[in-house]
This record gives sequence, C-alpha cells and structure tokens, in this order.
Amino acid sequence: MIQAEVDATQVARHLLHSKLTIPVTPGELVLWFPKWIPGIHGPGAQISNLAGLTVTSTDGEPIRWQRDPNELYRFLVDVPAGTESIQVDLTYLANQPTKLSTGVDTQGNADLLVMNFNTCLLYPEGATASEIPISLRVRLPQNWQFGTALSSEPTASDDGWHQFAPTSLETVIDSPLVAGRHLRKLEFETPDFPVTRMHFVSESPAALAFDEAQAERYRRLSAEALNLFGGTPFFSYDYLVVCSEQFPAFGLEHSDSSLNSIPEQALVDDDQRKGWHAYLLPHELVHAWCGKYRRPEGMTRANYHTNKQTELLWIYEGLTQYLGQVLAVRSGLMTFDGHLESLAGRVGYLSHRAGRKWRSLADTAIANYTLRGSSPNWNDLRRGQDYYDEGALFWLEVDCLLRKLTQGGKSLNDFCQEFFHKSPSDPKIKPYELNEVVDLLSSLAPHDWEGLIRRRVYQPLDQLQLDALWHAGYEYTYTDERPEFVKLREKDRKTISAEHSLGIRLKEDGTVEQVVPGSPSDKTGLATKMKIMGIDRRKFTPERFRSAIKETPATGQIELLVLEGDTFRTLVVTYADGTRYPVLERVVDRPDLLREICAPRSEDSEASVQ
Ligand SMILES: [Zn+2]
Repeated sequence: MIQAEVDATQVARHLLHSKLTIPVTPGELVLWFPKWIPGIHGPGAQISNLAGLTVTSTDGEPIRWQRDPNELYRFLVDVPAGTESIQVDLTYLANQPTKLSTGVDTQGNADLLVMNFNTCLLYPEGATASEIPISLRVRLPQNWQFGTALSSEPTASDDGWHQFAPTSLETVIDSPLVAGRHLRKLEFETPDFPVTRMHFVSESPAALAFDEAQAERYRRLSAEALNLFGGTPFFSYDYLVVCSEQFPAFGLEHSDSSLNSIPEQALVDDDQRKGWHAYLLPHELVHAWCGKYRRPEGMTRANYHTNKQTELLWIYEGLTQYLGQVLAVRSGLMTFDGHLESLAGRVGYLSHRAGRKWRSLADTAIANYTLRGSSPNWNDLRRGQDYYDEGALFWLEVDCLLRKLTQGGKSLNDFCQEFFHKSPSDPKIKPYELNEVVDLLSSLAPHDWEGLIRRRVYQPLDQLQLDALWHAGYEYTYTDERPEFVKLREKDRKTISAEHSLGIRLKEDGTVEQVVPGSPSDKTGLATKMKIMGIDRRKFTPERFRSAIKETPATGQIELLVLEGDTFRTLVVTYADGTRYPVLERVVDRPDLLREICAPRSEDSEASVQ
C-alpha cells in the first residue's frame, strides 16, 4: 500500500508538497508521473511544474534516480539491497495550468483550493491503476472545509491532516477535491437516485447564496437523468463547483463526481445563469454514464502512460454534449428559448468551418488535444474541437430519425436506457466499439446508420449538413436583432461579433480576433492582430462599427483605417446585407420535435418548457 501525504497549506504561494512511502523490492524500480489523465483526452499533465523529486530509504539515506531520456515522465530508481520501502518527496508548482491541464491541475489562492491528486503522485510501472492500493491524507489551511467523492474520517488530526479511507490509485486520481474558507454544501436524495452532494466554494460567500429555485433545478436534474438512463453507474455523486474569477473556466468529468469552474456570479446573477454556465453541470453529470462507465475501447487504459485512441470522441463528447443540453432544458436550468438561441449560435460558428473540406469530424476527434483552445489564426481553416457541437448536431439528427422511423415509438431515450444500463455484474468501466452503437440503433429502427455515420463523421464535407434542424422542425437563418446569447458572450469576452455579416470578430478596442474564410473581410485582406483604428474616416468605437454595418444596405461598403505593426492602411470592405446574427426559425408545417425532445419527462419534474 502506498502511503501518500499531501500538504496543500502553501498552495496560495504556488507550492504543493507531497511525501510518498512506496513498498519496493531491491533492483531497478520504474516510477511514472501520471501523463494521460482521463477527461482531457491527451498527454496534458504538466511535468514542467515538477520542482522537487528526492528519493530516500526509510532511514533517510539518499537513493539515486534518473529520468528515462526517451520518456520524460518515466523515472528509474536503483533500489539498494535490503530495502523494503522508499520515500519519495515531491514539490509541484501549483497555479501554472496550461490549456491542456486546467481541469486536472492543482490551483489555489488565499481562500480556496482545487486539488487534483495526479499532480502529487508517482506510481510504479507494471501494476494496474485500479489495483494499486493507496492510503491518502491531506493537510489543508486551518479551518477550511472541503468536498470530494473520497470518504474520509469525520475530523482532522490536531495538526490539520485529513485521513481518507484506503482506496486505489485509480479512484484517487478520479476524485479531485475542492476546499475553501467558504463552502456551501447541498445534499439531497431523489427517489431511486443515489445520494447527491453539491460542494460550492468561492472567495465570496455572497456568490454561494443562490436561491431555493436554483437548488430545486439541481434536484430535477437528478430526476431527469434517472428518467433518461433508467439507473445509475455510481453509488453516490458529488458536484464540486468553484465560483471564482481567479481560475480559468473548466469542467471535468469523473465516475462519482465532477469538477466545475464557473465565474463568481454565475449562480446568483440571472443574466449569467445562461449559456455554458447552465449547461456545464448537466454535461459533466452525463459523463458518469457516457465516457466514464461506457467508454470507447481505445480510451480504456490500465495506467496513465499508455497512449489513448480518441477517434470515438464524437460519441464520448458529442453525445454527452447533446444529452447534457437536453437535460439542462428538461430540468429547468436552461429555458427552451435560451437553448434555441444557443443552438443557433453553435450552428452559426460550425457553418464557418471551412476546414471541414480537408479534414473529417472524426479527424478532429483523433487529433483532439492538438485542437484544444482556439488557434489565434484561421481557426476555421484548422478546425477546433468540433466533435462536441457537430457531434451533438449528429445526435440530434439520430434522435429525430429514431422518432420518425418509428412514428414516435422510439427515441434516443430508448438507446440510453439500453446502452448505459448497468447491472450489478457489470464492471465499473464497460468498453465499447462503434459496431455496438450501430447494432443498437439498428435494433431500435432499421436504417442505414453506418452510411449516415460515414457521411457525417468520417469524410470531409463541402459544408455543414443541417438535416438535423430540418427534422427537428427548424431552419437556420439570420436576424438583424442581436440575440441575448450574443450580448452575453460579447460582454463575457469583451468582443464585437460580426462573423455573419462582415465575417469578422473584434476585441472591443478594434483588434481583429477572427476572420471568417470566404467572407467580405477575408476578401478585403483583413487578418488577426490587425487593429481597426478608423471607420469611414472617423475614429473607431464599437458603436460606430455596429452602426456602419447597419447602414451597409444603403452604403454598400465600409472604409476601414487599419494599423498593422506600425503601418497604417486603408481597406474597403464591400458588403451590403446589413446586420446579421444566426437564428433558428420554426418551419410551421413540420412538427416541433426539438420542443418535444426538451420537454420534462420525470414525474418529479415540474419544470415547464418556455
Ligand atoms: Zn465533456
């Protein structure tokens, strides 16, 4: 059994110390720093943050180690004769996450902590993570409270150590911890759903003072999830939620918990309880079934150093994205109208992905971690992690098709009941391959599902296929009124959206953030990092920019004074279609399947679809 002591009292000063006592036999020992952490689908662990590694015998004698020159996460230790256990002391630089590590890194400040145990552990090569026993204790700053799916002794020791029940390395790495000076805990039981705990931390107690109606929506989420899946693969569930401006936004799934970071006011400000803030918790909850319990075979590994094959992320993330959003509306966390606006926005950005012509959706899944975060240049040519939203659009199409082919008899709900069912004899992780998915769909409704998957997912395409919307009873079009979700996003990101008119997105100061391939702005020669200083011979302001676009049906063009490096240029954008934002409109002679899909199903749920 590995004994692990993790001291997080210095995390505000960017330091995390841990001491591991590892049973060994004399000879060569290989230790790994966890590299491929589940949930980020790539080798994202930040070994560059390792700031101390010493190995000693139990009587304090130093033991030599060296790094494998061919594999930087692998350490070779020469264990002397007669040694039964060694001590490893690690120092890790907290608060230095990268795009790939945000959800699996350790970060904290003077008021709160997000702890991921993969940052402070080494494990021996050869053993299976689920079979490496570990006894963990953690020291936190005085008087802090914490939340985690790990079970612990009820009180800390006099010197502030919290002892956790012995478990496996796999469970420890799958169970992050949040802690803080201010923690709000909600605990509830829903009929037939395991006990659910929610742990909210923030620097500000006021940020945690959300009302009873919000708490009720979380309860409905459990009821709706149970209705969708029919049972649960976990025995209890813990939401860990950080409400702070001091951390990057992220969400990460685990088998019995989820780790979520949202803005400080996201739960108490009505204007912010929308968009991804509302979708995040349902998305990560769905992962307990889709991704954690049922996992693509290529993503099932016995350790944290074997590469994964992530081709089926269009199911792992795409289906989760779809179901999470449906559950968000069914539970009342998101309004139907808000969902419709948000869906239009996602179809809008996907429609600009010119990179679809050279790489398939499946290719974005295979190369997923190289696409994390937007490219600052021509992201639409490169593509991004499109398997989330384009994957979700695919699953909307499947849901609609199942309903149509069976005259309303079957739907994706039936698929979920069967695919995600866990009987007591099933393992904790049940791998699948694509053919199981195709076979199950065929058994629900005979159809050329393989052909559909090939056309939508596995081949480059000239343009985004919108059949899903047509089946759902909607068409994609444009409005000249700025939708609420665009206003919120512009406020959040301090940007100005004109992707669907001029084909450009600006920062508030006029710096070009994105140019849409093939758009009027692209044809004029605009590129990212250029800064628009003037519009039609007057100084740039966001208001003048918006109003110049509005006037284009009369003017037919906009003259821009552009600063590139230290050179000014005048560029004239030819455009006459005025203000345009994406919107979904009802096709009146077709049934409103989308509304039907989003309607609450659970008897416990009184959410009305608005
Ligand atoms: Zn996800």
